[in-house]
Amino acid sequence: MAEIRIQNLQKRFADFTAVKNSSLVLEDGKFVVLLGPSGCGKTTTLRMIAGLEFPTGGTITLDGSDVTYRRPRERDIAMVFQLFALYPHMGVRDNLEFPLRNEGVPRAEIDRRINEVAGILRIEHLLGSRVGGLAGGDRQRVALGRAIVREPKAFLMDEPLGTLDAEFRELMCVELRKLHERLKTTTVFVTHDQNEAMALADHIVVMNNGEILQADDPHGIYNFPSCVFVARFIGRPPMNLLQVRGTVAGGDSQVQVDGRLVDVPALQGDADRALLGVRPEHVRLVPSGEGLGGHVERIEYFGSHWIAELKTEAGTLKALVDKHTRPVEGERVGLAFDTSRLVLFDAVTERLLP
Ligand code: ATP
Repeated sequence: MAEIRIQNLQKRFADFTAVKNSSLVLEDGKFVVLLGPSGCGKTTTLRMIAGLEFPTGGTITLDGSDVTYRRPRERDIAMVFQLFALYPHMGVRDNLEFPLRNEGVPRAEIDRRINEVAGILRIEHLLGSRVGGLAGGDRQRVALGRAIVREPKAFLMDEPLGTLDAEFRELMCVELRKLHERLKTTTVFVTHDQNEAMALADHIVVMNNGEILQADDPHGIYNFPSCVFVARFIGRPPMNLLQVRGTVAGGDSQVQVDGRLVDVPALQGDADRALLGVRPEHVRLVPSGEGLGGHVERIEYFGSHWIAELKTEAGTLKALVDKHTRPVEGERVGLAFDTSRLVLFDAVTERLLP
C-alpha cells in the first residue's frame, strides 16, 4: 500500500505544456480516478507516476520517498493497460507467472499467489487456456490478475475498460470495485467516462487543459463543482447555468433571475455578476404564474422520466420531470428551484462563490 504525492508537477513537450503545475495527494488505499476530456493530460500524469515519462518540473513521492526520476521497475507499482498487454500466444498461467519469474520469486510463492488471485478473479478454470481464445471480459480479468500477482504498492490503470462493450464495462466496474474493497491497494484509474468515475472512485480528480480543477469525492464533485467547467462536465444533462442580475448578498441571500427574487444558500461575498447553477433534477414545474415564467420548448422521453427543455427570459434550461407528468410542448409553465441545491459561480472567473 502506498501514498502518492505529486507536487508542482509539470510536463512540457517542446513548447506545449501537457501538465501544468499540478499538486495532489493520492491517499493510501484509495481508488482515485483521473477524469477529463481527451487531451487534458490524464495519461501523461499517470505515465509520470509510473515512471514511463519524466516530468519537466515538480516531484513525485511514493510513501515519502522521492521517485520522480526512478525507473518504472524501481517503483513497485503495476500498470494495467488495455487488453493488449497480455501475451496472446502464451497460456493464462504463463501470463500470470511471467512477471513473478522475472522478479525471481520462488516457485512455491508463485503458486500461492496465482491460486489466490485466480480465486479472487474467478479464473481458476481458465488457468490452462490460451489467452488468444478468451472472451473480452475473461481477458481483462487475466490482465488484472497479472497486475495483482505482483502485489504492488499501487495500481495504475489507463482506460482499462475502454475496449469493452457497454454491458461488460458495467460488469467490470462492479468487479473492480469489489476487488478494491478486498485488496485496498492504492489505485489511480484514468478515464474520460464520468459514469465509470462515479461508480469506481473514492476520489475524482477532474482535469482540463493540463490543470487539476477539482479533487473531491463523487458527492462533492457533483454537488459542489469548483467551477463552471466541472459543473458542465459532470452530470447528464449538464447543470443549468443562468445569468443572475442585480444580486443581493447577505445572511438569507437572494438573487434576481429575470426580475424575480430567488432564494439561494447564504453568500459570503458580493455576488454581483454571477451564474446560478441548478441541476435538472432540482428544477420543478409549477403552475404558470408561479415562480420563474417560461414555456416548454421540447421534451424527451427516457422511460423513467422526461427531460423538458424550457425557455425563460433568463435563458434555456432543462428539467427532469417525473414519468407520470408528461410536459406539453409549447405550454406555459412556472419554474421553481430546490433552493438548498443551488450553487453560484462568479461570472468572470467562473469559480464557485464561497
Ligand atoms: P486521451 O484520453 O486522449 O489519452 P489524455 O487526457 O490522457 O487524453 P494525454 O495523453 O496526457 O491526454 O495528452 C495531453 C496532451 O499532451 C495532448 O495534447 C497530447 O497530444 C500531448 N502529448 C502527449 N504525449 C506527447 C508527446 N510524447 N509529444 C508531444 N505531445 C504529447
